[in-house]
Amino acid sequence: MLQPGGRLSRLLDGYEQRPGQVRMLEQVCRLLERGGVLAVEAGTGVGKSLAYGIPAAAFALARGRRVVISSATINLQEQLVGKDLPLVGRLLGRSLRFELVKGRGNYLCRRRLADAWRRLHVSQGPADGEQLARLVSWAENSEDGSLASLDFRVDEELWERVSSDADACLGMRCPRRGECFFARARARAERAQLLVVNHHLLLADLAVRLDSGNWEKRAVLPSFGHLVVDEAHELEDAASSFFGVRITARGMARLLGRLAGRRGRAGLLDDLAREIESLGGALAGGRAQRLRQSTGELQQQAREVEQAYRRGLEQLGQLLQERRQQGTESKLRLDRLSGDDYPAEVDSSLREAADRLRQLAGQVALLVERLGELGQEESVSAEALAWVERARLLAEHTDLVFSREADEQVRWAESQRGGQASLHAAPVELAPLFRQVLFENMEAVVLTSATLTVGGDFEFFHERLGLDGLPPQRLVELVVESPFTYREQARLAIPADLIPPGQPGYEQALADAVVQAVAVSGGAALVLYTSWGTMRRVAERVAGRLGELGLQLLVQGQARRDELLERLRQGGGVVLFGVDSFWRGIDVVGPALRHVVITRLPFDVPGEPLIEARGERLEARGLSAFRHFSLPRAVLRLKQGFGRLIRSRGDRGVVTLLDRRVLERSYGREFLASLPPARRLVGPAEDVFDELAEFFGSATSRRVVPLE
Ligand code: SF4
Repeated sequence: MLQPGGRLSRLLDGYEQRPGQVRMLEQVCRLLERGGVLAVEAGTGVGKSLAYGIPAAAFALARGRRVVISSATINLQEQLVGKDLPLVGRLLGRSLRFELVKGRGNYLCRRRLADAWRRLHVSQGPADGEQLARLVSWAENSEDGSLASLDFRVDEELWERVSSDADACLGMRCPRRGECFFARARARAERAQLLVVNHHLLLADLAVRLDSGNWEKRAVLPSFGHLVVDEAHELEDAASSFFGVRITARGMARLLGRLAGRRGRAGLLDDLAREIESLGGALAGGRAQRLRQSTGELQQQAREVEQAYRRGLEQLGQLLQERRQQGTESKLRLDRLSGDDYPAEVDSSLREAADRLRQLAGQVALLVERLGELGQEESVSAEALAWVERARLLAEHTDLVFSREADEQVRWAESQRGGQASLHAAPVELAPLFRQVLFENMEAVVLTSATLTVGGDFEFFHERLGLDGLPPQRLVELVVESPFTYREQARLAIPADLIPPGQPGYEQALADAVVQAVAVSGGAALVLYTSWGTMRRVAERVAGRLGELGLQLLVQGQARRDELLERLRQGGGVVLFGVDSFWRGIDVVGPALRHVVITRLPFDVPGEPLIEARGERLEARGLSAFRHFSLPRAVLRLKQGFGRLIRSRGDRGVVTLLDRRVLERSYGREFLASLPPARRLVGPAEDVFDELAEFFGSATSRRVVPLE
């Protein structure tokens, strides 16, 4: 069906057969039938979503077994359900049931919305009335009740109060169950042959299965044994965040505000107090009075707990600031401190705050129990008990951050805007977990991405995901080259005489080089940074000069990511500065993006606790953290950055790397060996930029010494 003149070419305009796509498809077919694990690096343009989508659909239809496809980004999930899987259905000539499954917090809860609307006159914030009214009329007509389909903005805290929540859900006892958006989405997922999910939802499902030992029945997702993980290079980071802990003063204020009320919005205790009023005659003697009084006391306690957390986080923030002034790192590894260095006072005050939070949760639970005995409305008690669960979990997380036990967690504090600290913990090693949940309990797993190998070798990826312990007969590797002709379509430019990072005058030299680089391509440029600070400072230095050149500077953080990308797509001399997520997953086809400028080799910023702790684990095993961890991570990231440039056979463009260490240090070879085979231009900056000007058709050329 993929042959020239075959079925796909009749369905898809401009279809060209790609041998790499066929190879990948055949391997995925075999794997799904036989079981095991397949790791496939498929270069940009291979068409990997069809290369796994077709066999996954064919397998699900033929065997009646569900296949789950997980990816990191919503863009890819939408592309799968909006374009690729409908095409696969037509290609196979069968009706194919597939579903994009989202976490339950994405769906409106009709029962919670009705309650919020009913209490509007007393319970909600000043602007809530209008938003709730719009939500009520939207819910009447909405097909799926999902946040993504809302065409107006709803305040985040308000959405939290009216969206579906596992702890607050009344389940079969809910009066709105028959028309519940989430229950309908779940039923559709149950009927689907292919499920498309994000990595977080996949991990949520696997975590429940791991806890309960249930691999046969529904957990968060319906049961499945066959899995495709696209954007698999993101899986470890997704798991670090999913299994990690984060406590902020803002989060605490929201949690306790939900109980005691905040910003003009009434809290759960106000709802409970009204319940007591309405029970009225059912309460004998002074009981109503005592219960009412206890809601008032709990409100006071909630405020005190919030203050206790705030004070503790402020103290810790102060400590971090002092350390920064002394030149030590801005993130504080709590698990590594001992003796006088350990912030014992902060530790005990935050532990005490956690104890008080636990006590408060216990008292709220008791109050709900008493009211329940008196016939209190179930929806109010469900909301309060959901709060109790969350509060207990947060107290537990606080204990975890300050635990002195040597375990699998790295714990740290970092500064937030406003001077407070935030608290964090995350598992250091995820490989054993992946091994257990993915490779020992799934029948077949396909892991794919455009960036899995370093110099063509899967070793790093296997180690991180625990694949190195698998029996060789269970694991198949495949590298499928991109069909693009990088030698013709792309150039890799490396000015050899720029001041290297860390040397005096570096940032000014970098700013000058960025201006020169984006000027030769007339904008249409994505400039990638490894640090927010450097990006912002360079942006300040170059904004005026770019304006004089008629170029429009956009900086990550100025607007939403999709808005910035849309402005880049529209063309017209745009220069977009980005860090972090801008290295990955950006897909701008055509001349609107013809120049990717990489300002620095993307090693992790020193002092990242989780990265450091992972490196320490390797050192403890006698391995070099640099060779086995920092370097391969940076190589993969550089590959991802490079991958933003050529997105179709018609694209032409340049990646300019403004870090000469790639030419001078021994590790530079590993970076260069992992990049696509674009023609390289290396030499003095002036010569390189002249050559680029010629490539972009904007000036005459000068001689440049080629590397090869
Ligand atoms: S069943 Fe649960 S999620 Fe659905 S409307 Fe009722 S309470 Fe909300």
